Amino acid sequence: MLMRLSINSIYKATEGEGVLVGSPQIFIRFQGCNIGCVNCDSKDTWSFLENGNITMEEIFAKLRDLGGEKIKRVSITGGDPLHPSLINQTITLIKELKNRRYWVNIEAAGTRLPHEVFDQVDFISFDYKTPSTGVKTSVKLLSKLIEQYPNRHQVKSVIADREDFQNALAAYREIAGEEETLLPTSTWVLTPCYEPHEEFSGKRFQNILQWNEDEGGPFRVIGQQHKWVYGPAEKQV
Ligand code: SF4
Repeated sequence: MLMRLSINSIYKATEGEGVLVGSPQIFIRFQGCNIGCVNCDSKDTWSFLENGNITMEEIFAKLRDLGGEKIKRVSITGGDPLHPSLINQTITLIKELKNRRYWVNIEAAGTRLPHEVFDQVDFISFDYKTPSTGVKTSVKLLSKLIEQYPNRHQVKSVIADREDFQNALAAYREIAGEEETLLPTSTWVLTPCYEPHEEFSGKRFQNILQWNEDEGGPFRVIGQQHKWVYGPAEKQV
């Protein structure tokens, strides 16, 4: 039977955060997530579909429409594309993308480390969830990611306040150990929190820059550029 995938949306945009900031990509956003981050800005992706809503051929037709031969970079995001009920769809999609020579990034929520997915992609964006998200990432799991996928991942953490920063710093130190740095094989990005309903907080951003400087710069602090350009509530930009 023809596979149908559970997809929320497929759209072209310039990456607005993390180390890939500024790169035009096509985003394939899966539908379904039960992780429950308090500050999630994609709550419309939470509910699971009973059946898939789009075929593989329809996905590739859309990719051709949006990017033609010019944009061959895809970010698979969600929702949670690594949820057990979606992971087979994700693996099949990645195989098809790689067959057609796309560069593929996977956005991982930091709750699972599925080799059958991570071994196939070009880049892994792995969340380390801070206390303000209400969700916990296992430091052991993150440590494995960093060790097993050197030079092709970033760790991303949303920072709302000093508690979030200290929490990320403690995890960083636990993993880096006596060497005190994860560079050059790992990049850990702090994203100053900027929620859709709020004014941009320069003060929060400055504090995070300062805390990172005070610690000698274990992290890269990168804001969400798309929210400055289009406004914090704008979707698919
Ligand atoms: S993992 Fe992503 S989609 Fe799921 S709740 Fe967290 S931020 Fe939202």
